[in-house]
Amino acid sequence: MSQKNEIKLRDIEESINICEKCPLFKTRIMAVPGMGTFTSGIVFIGEAPGAKEDKVGKPFIGAAGKFLDEMLSEIKLERDDVFITNVVKCRPPDNRDPLPREVKICTENYLWDQLEILDPKIIITLGRHAMYRFIPSDKKISEVHGMLFDLTSPKTGRSFKILPLYHPAAALYNGSMRDVLKKDFKKVPSILNKIKIKRRLN
Ligand code: URA
Repeated sequence: MSQKNEIKLRDIEESINICEKCPLFKTRIMAVPGMGTFTSGIVFIGEAPGAKEDKVGKPFIGAAGKFLDEMLSEIKLERDDVFITNVVKCRPPDNRDPLPREVKICTENYLWDQLEILDPKIIITLGRHAMYRFIPSDKKISEVHGMLFDLTSPKTGRSFKILPLYHPAAALYNGSMRDVLKKDFKKVPSILNKIKIKRRLN
């Protein structure tokens, strides 16, 4: 990645950290712009920060994040090998679902710009909120999880793949969903090979 693009991504992060574009800034402790490498071509997108993320300013560091790390390590990846962010960058009070207006403001101002610069080869969405940013809303996550979709960026015209998965928090305490998520995750290495993303060997 060029230094210019790296600076652009850091600038977006700074703007997120001081954002007051929607009411969530009033109740957040910290905004959560995202973390990880800018250059792997792999971007995970969750829904919104929870209580722990809000305190620390990093995505997926609670129980769902621990489960995500576990699944990443089973396919020989660490969170530093990918970029992880959320549709909405500030915690909705009491972990309620983000409102359509909050999603609209946050994605239009930040997520699409992050993606345009990160230019991922694959976006792995976690949960239905993230999935519906990219996949038409007539599809149900129960029907399309683990299936690979093609998408063309409306901004850059570049194509990338979308892999919708269940959200680790939803799967954490639901045995059958947990098994399905783990099974879907195991498809990731062959998908990465197919789209020619090299993984770190350890
Ligand atoms: N759930 C999410 O969707 N994102 C986080 O960062 C943490 C929990």
